[in-house]
Amino acid sequence: MKFNELHLNDYLIKTVKRCGYTNPTPVQEQCIPFILAGHDILGLAQTGTGKTAAFILPTIQHLMAHPGKQIRALVITPTRELAEQINDFTQTIIGRSSLQSLAVYGGVSKAAQIAKIRRGVDIVIACPGRLLDICNDKAIDLSQVDVLILDEADHMFDKGFLPDIRRIIRLLPVKRQNLVFSATMPDEIRQLAGNILVNPKTVQLNPSRSVKNISHSVFTIDKAQKTRLLVKLLADEAMGTTLVFTRTRHRAKNLARVLVQTGLKATSLQGNLSQSRRQQALSGFKDGTYTVLVATDIAARGIDVTGISHVINYAIPDTAEAYIHRTGRTGRAGCTGDALTFATSEDRRLIRVIERSLNRPMSQLDLPQLPEAHLPVRHQPVQTTARSHKNTGPAGKSSRVSRKQQRCANNSNIFGLAQRGRN
Ligand code: AMP
Repeated sequence: MKFNELHLNDYLIKTVKRCGYTNPTPVQEQCIPFILAGHDILGLAQTGTGKTAAFILPTIQHLMAHPGKQIRALVITPTRELAEQINDFTQTIIGRSSLQSLAVYGGVSKAAQIAKIRRGVDIVIACPGRLLDICNDKAIDLSQVDVLILDEADHMFDKGFLPDIRRIIRLLPVKRQNLVFSATMPDEIRQLAGNILVNPKTVQLNPSRSVKNISHSVFTIDKAQKTRLLVKLLADEAMGTTLVFTRTRHRAKNLARVLVQTGLKATSLQGNLSQSRRQQALSGFKDGTYTVLVATDIAARGIDVTGISHVINYAIPDTAEAYIHRTGRTGRAGCTGDALTFATSEDRRLIRVIERSLNRPMSQLDLPQLPEAHLPVRHQPVQTTARSHKNTGPAGKSSRVSRKQQRCANNSNIFGLAQRGRN
């Protein structure tokens, strides 16, 4: 199917072409016609499937066809990074049209957000807490919202945002279009969806479709050896852009520091950082300033960084669902990816749960020879602070893209590590 078969207007067809999209993804094929026809949607789709464009494109078409001076579309998301990412995409699409969008989240100036709202905004992409805060200040009018989009609804439930969402919904007009997207459907989300959606069309993507590009492997390892194994793996020159997950903020920060000491271009993304440092870490990872990002689960959902070749679970996540989200950061947009999990003997039960959810066994990898307890320092300048992003963008990007293309073309195990047993 082609974009011009989806009844999008010429402006949007040209703009998606400029984004490099040739054909719609399955979630776009299914959602866009329903949304354009005014239906409510219950979308069961994970990130990485192209769902942002699936809801933003028809929403923008609606706003273009019904000009107004108020906020007419509201997207609610669980994390600041996701709000920023959706807003970036929205701004790319609205381009130089007269539409205005704004991301609203905490950790940055509320006054600046209110000032922009006063100047006039058509689409708000918000995290619930800051949005309610601004509502309580009576600095925003949501009474003209035509389209409500709840993205990553299950994650909002996990984060305890449902009461806030209910409060926000009470401020919206009763007659509106509702689009709810969720990777999974716990009872609470089913109930919420039942309360807000009116005769919805359900769009369900086969979840296995999203994970088939990813190889899943496990190292069984003692806790004390994990850092040395990580350093060993990351020292491989062929290793591409890598996202490492830890359980705690403290561990993410310290591990990134250790990796920097070994000469790697690494940084951390965790909730103890100020919002500007979080953004700096993420944009540095996107533009290639950093090739390794050590993060807590704030990076597990929604974050779209092109060409992440490896996800390493330094600490295994608590649930199979969290595993699917973390590892879904690789193997995106048709590329392949490797997911590696460091599991201690205590994690065996969880590995079995994850395997059941993947519907396939994970490969067991033999431990390579690990360096002595002191960590190897690479013979290159140690980078202790973030480089300016100014001049690194295009170069960093192109080198990452070429690595990504390489990975797409060549689906080999770059470690040359022995795989044993099941595969
Ligand atoms: P999302 O699931 O919205 O986070 O999108 C995942 C990735 O797929 C993003 O990098 C999008 O830019 C990309 N993408 C979305 N739609 C398309 C498309 N039709 N063709 C190619 N890439 C797409």
